[in-house]
Amino acid sequence: MLMQMNLMVQSVEDFWRRNLAGEIQKRMEMERMLKEKEEQVERFRNMYHFYEERTFVLENMGPNRFAGEGTSGGGAGAALEEEVQSCHVEVKDDQRMEIRCRNCLNRPASMLWLPCRHLSVCLVCERRVKNCPICRVKKTESIQINLP
Ligand SMILES: [Zn+2]
Ligand SMILES: [Zn+2]
Repeated sequence: MLMQMNLMVQSVEDFWRRNLAGEIQKRMEMERMLKEKEEQVERFRNMYHFYEERTFVLENMGPNRFAGEGTSGGGAGAALEEEVQSCHVEVKDDQRMEIRCRNCLNRPASMLWLPCRHLSVCLVCERRVKNCPICRVKKTESIQINLP
């Protein structure tokens, strides 16, 4: 009878031990999964911070970079060059100013027209053109000028 009791207790103990072992294993498994999830969350959080930082840097870099390109001399220089070209005034090797004819743009302007007083055309264009190429005022008189 005692033997049977012992066996019974032993088997109960065995049962609980196995059960407990299973419970512990399950808990460990769940803890492992939880930890994995936490690691995953941490990875996503890091990735989020990485992209957040990256976006912040790009957002701050963007406008400054474009503004820098806009004002870095390229546009202003081209505009100045265009302005200089539109003047048709050239400084020659001997430092003498040459004012180009505003009609043909080839020969030096040497006729001063009245009444507008523009030095606008060359000797050739003087005979062809009746209105001042600069202001379109009709020529009444013309004076040939000699530059030094
Ligand atoms: Zn001309
Ligand atoms: Zn004129």
